[in-house]
Amino acid sequence: MATEKTLDDLFLDTLKDIYYAERQILKALPKMARAAQSEEGKAGFLRHREETEGQIERLQQVFEIFGKAARGKTCEAIQGIIAEGEEIMEDYKASPALHAGLISSARAVEHYEIARYGTLIAWAKQLGLKDAIPLLEQNLAEEIATDKKLTKLGETSANAKGSKAA
Ligand code: FE
Ligand code: FE
Ligand code: FE
Repeated sequence: MATEKTLDDLFLDTLKDIYYAERQILKALPKMARAAQSEEGKAGFLRHREETEGQIERLQQVFEIFGKAARGKTCEAIQGIIAEGEEIMEDYKASPALHAGLISSARAVEHYEIARYGTLIAWAKQLGLKDAIPLLEQNLAEEIATDKKLTKLGETSANAKGSKAA
């Protein structure tokens, strides 16, 4: 018979998943900042990189609350999302649509994170991990705010610039 896994195991596995993802994102954000054509875009990616450092620290605190060592578990989903972003940066290097492509890649990253944090918060509540909830909620709030800023940035400059008609 297979070992019986519980919601505790799933919480820990998912925590390891987002911990791995955040560290990959930390490495990807400077590349996106370098690729960004506007100062606003560059600054935005670098600001989120700083936020990501804080998010990683909060995740380390959540591991501590859970009584486990902070360790990542390879997340193929984030690897794929980041690889797609790199492909766009390469394929649209000199294109007026690069900005729109960067924003769409960054939004895919944020949405993965939002899905993970939303789930972890729900499970932390079910598992009675009271001290973990505000830490995860703060990370979630930062991802949602970043997604909103990206959406706005896309609406104001990228889409118009990327279009042939503009
Ligand atoms: Fe993050
Ligand atoms: Fe994953
Ligand atoms: Fe993020």
